[in-house]
Amino acid sequence: MSAGRSRYDQAAKTQRITKFLVAARESAIDLNLKRFVFLRVLVSSWLTLPFCALVAGPTPAQTQERADILISGGTVVTMDSSRRIIDKGMVAIRGDRIIAVGPASELAGRFQAAQEISAANQIVLPGLVNTHNHAPMVLFRGIADDMALMDWLEKFIFPAEARNVSPEFVQAGTDLACLEMIRSGTTTYADMYYFEDKVAETTNQAGVRGVLGQTILGFPSPDSRNPEEALKYTERFIQRWRGSSLIVPAVAPHAPYTNSPETLRACKGLADKYGVPMIIHVSETRDEVRQIKAKYKTTSTQWLEKLGVLGPNVIFNHGVWLTEQDLGIIRRRGLGVTHNPESNMKLASGSAPVLRMLALGIPVGLGTDGAASNNDLDMFEAMSTAARLQKLVSGNPAALPAEKVVELATLGGARVLGLHKEIGSLETGKKADLITISTEPAHAVPMYNVYSHLVYALKGADVRLSVINGKIAMLDGVVLTLDEGKIKQKARIIQERVLSSLKSR
Ligand SMILES: [Zn+2]
Repeated sequence: MSAGRSRYDQAAKTQRITKFLVAARESAIDLNLKRFVFLRVLVSSWLTLPFCALVAGPTPAQTQERADILISGGTVVTMDSSRRIIDKGMVAIRGDRIIAVGPASELAGRFQAAQEISAANQIVLPGLVNTHNHAPMVLFRGIADDMALMDWLEKFIFPAEARNVSPEFVQAGTDLACLEMIRSGTTTYADMYYFEDKVAETTNQAGVRGVLGQTILGFPSPDSRNPEEALKYTERFIQRWRGSSLIVPAVAPHAPYTNSPETLRACKGLADKYGVPMIIHVSETRDEVRQIKAKYKTTSTQWLEKLGVLGPNVIFNHGVWLTEQDLGIIRRRGLGVTHNPESNMKLASGSAPVLRMLALGIPVGLGTDGAASNNDLDMFEAMSTAARLQKLVSGNPAALPAEKVVELATLGGARVLGLHKEIGSLETGKKADLITISTEPAHAVPMYNVYSHLVYALKGADVRLSVINGKIAMLDGVVLTLDEGKIKQKARIIQERVLSSLKSR
């Protein structure tokens, strides 16, 4: 290597090093500058962001509450203690509960929901409570009409039941009944029938709320040879269903004239042991009053009082022929009465002292009774008939006004069943059981008064939406929890069996 070349190399090397050092310094300065700018931006963001938030208000994602279902735009009839009616209202649901009720304009921004349902041109109402039913009897709808209760029971219903009622029959009947109830706005019903465990399974599957009583009779019935067997069945049934979110199991001795004093005492003992209701037909007909009088020298209510089987967990069905003394006992014992105007009229049983019961503060609910004595499970008809019947028998058109009737079909019924803290009105914290009813049909236009429409103009078939325990059972007139076609087909097959069973007697 020559010296000249070496010197050149040295100079070039020095130049390269110098260049590198300058570049390095510049990039260091650049890095520092970048760091500075980055930190500056960061700090200023921290400082300015809260300020921006203060000025601009909360961002939606930060503050909106989660809801599962929002129902908005309808006329919300709350049935709360102030009987609030909210035009263009909103009901927000999360899980099985109502989390808000109010004007849609106030609540709309507060919630973010998985499902939003418009209730425009609809009434939003607490789900109807049918306090007396024999659900599977829909399969006997129209089998024998136009006769007295005792003839009807002894010549047709008891024989038809003895030959046909099985777990399969009960399941098919309960499916059909639940379908009809969902369609016509009932979200809770009280029942008494046989194989009630099957009724409970089917009702639970349909997503309907039920206070379901296993029937106990003093003679052989479709599911038990004697009352002892029926009581054992009932205890197993209660053990299975107590604590269920939809089903309240109950003990249901048929009536004071179809059960011995021992059985009636055992029934009440069982109801008290498990803290469940006892459901019983009482003073339904004059004939019953005569039978009890001949046998026990008193009225049904006073006979039950004497046996020590009355209390707040007891539900009387009908109570058509209650005396003033009976009413005093009912009030003192704190029990509720179901009023079934259509069944009472059709069987010519009489008119229950509804106005007197209400004046005394006795809880009264409305019921359809079984479809064989009605002949459908439409609570809108029950409301309309209840109002008209009291006006007719009292001679007073102001008796039992529409608002009171709507109360009997919702909160009043819930009180009779002991469920008024959970259902019967649309209030924050209560179970989400509600329906919507269209006000679009010709028979509902125009609407001046919402209670008047509910009682005198609207029909069960106008119900569009049913939500029970926070779950949608019917949406826009389509039942989601049941296979409608299959259920009707099965009912027609059973009809053939029932007809041939009656021919062969
Ligand atoms: Zn009944």
